[in-house]
Amino acid sequence: MCRQARGKRPEEGKHTLLTNRKVRILGAIVGVVLLALAGLALAGLALDKNREPSRGDVRVSIEQLEHRQVRVVYRTKKAIRWLNFGALAGQYREVGWRFEGGGFRIVATDNGDSIERIDGRKFNEVSLIASPHLVRLKKEYQPLSEYGEGGVMIYTGHFSPMTENGGRANVTFDFTPRERGEVVAFGDHAARLENWRSPTAHPAFVYMGSLEPVETSDVMAVVDPTAPPWIIDEFDRLTPLAFSHLATVFGFSLETKPNLFLTVSGYDQEGRLSYSGDALPGQFQITLEGASWLESSKKAVDIFRLSTIHEAVHLWQARAHPRADEEAPWIHEGAADAIAAQAMLTLGLWNAQDYETNLDAAHDECAIELKKGSLAGAQQRGDYRALYACGQVISQALAGAQRESTASFWRAFIIQVSDGEGYTADDLYDFVAIRAGDQEFSRQLRYFVETPHARPEVEIDKLFDLSAASRDNAPLAPAKAR
Ligand SMILES: [Zn+2]
Repeated sequence: MCRQARGKRPEEGKHTLLTNRKVRILGAIVGVVLLALAGLALAGLALDKNREPSRGDVRVSIEQLEHRQVRVVYRTKKAIRWLNFGALAGQYREVGWRFEGGGFRIVATDNGDSIERIDGRKFNEVSLIASPHLVRLKKEYQPLSEYGEGGVMIYTGHFSPMTENGGRANVTFDFTPRERGEVVAFGDHAARLENWRSPTAHPAFVYMGSLEPVETSDVMAVVDPTAPPWIIDEFDRLTPLAFSHLATVFGFSLETKPNLFLTVSGYDQEGRLSYSGDALPGQFQITLEGASWLESSKKAVDIFRLSTIHEAVHLWQARAHPRADEEAPWIHEGAADAIAAQAMLTLGLWNAQDYETNLDAAHDECAIELKKGSLAGAQQRGDYRALYACGQVISQALAGAQRESTASFWRAFIIQVSDGEGYTADDLYDFVAIRAGDQEFSRQLRYFVETPHARPEVEIDKLFDLSAASRDNAPLAPAKAR
């Protein structure tokens, strides 16, 4: 308004006919008015820039550009010397972020990265261009990735600044897709999102692009239209089946309608059949890579069904979250595999033989993985398969000890730990002791997890012997358990 207006101020000139003293008084009044207007203008400018006052200490505006890039502008309420970010593999920020207008740099810190001015002075605004990482970052949520034709997927966690003591800063986001595009996050899909916060108070996936979200009674889905038709049909058939099954076995329905993102790529990679799944509270993302997804082979169908149910299980598990990301991931990953396998059997997607084969495969893989070291150290070593296979083996043994399914074990575990700060492995050991009515099984379980084993297959058998012994002492329960 006033900038424009300032531009248009000539109309003042028209008034030069007045006396000197009157002119001076008038001049003073005009001066005061102008000053006030300038002050308002400045405030207005700030308002105009942010449209509405920011609800957070940091406002992060992410604008979609061409070539899968985004412009990210950080505005802080108070002038700061550093903008800190959590650790992220692959030096992504150093490689993938380029400052607009110079004067800033990324510095690696003990806990991650930090943006600072090269001259060390304070700042309250910085603008940068972010590009997707060239290769998929292992065991990380992808900060910025290609999503379908002309679309991008953002994981807000890697763009959210941290406080000095390592907590998540009080941040709100603006998302501006390219022309005629939409932004989709949870139930929101709009031409623009302003002053946005995740409804789960947790980092989230946000899509920007031209794909229309499809809303069903179970999910708000953004599905890459280049996905093979059998995948889309399979997904449409599987989701309602699996979601109603999980609501039954967990004993509750999801509070918010989850977001699902499904994308495919790498059709030029012959023989590749890679399924990557990422789950966050209220959201999950499926990334299929490789030409082998073009055909609905038994293997591809099995992997798609089992892995998609696995990701869906995480939506229900989210009621009981681990205290920290690195806190015993075998607990929720193994249980998700065990519950998904039991769901495949219950839903008739597998027969008893398929189910047995899956369990045996988990046993064998766990024994192989534990030859590399203890389960407790697997994540540190990067032996991620141990977390899934041994976690499934343990979930089987825990459920077997009570003649129950893994889902009903988790149903009780969620009640036990869901109102705390998040569970730890100790919480699980304590819970097992409570359910078994003695410490022995729980003590052996801790020993199994924390000890490097020379002959892991022997230890796995011992665990099942203990599970059987515990079962024989346990009060009789429905006969479904292994
Ligand atoms: Zn998982």
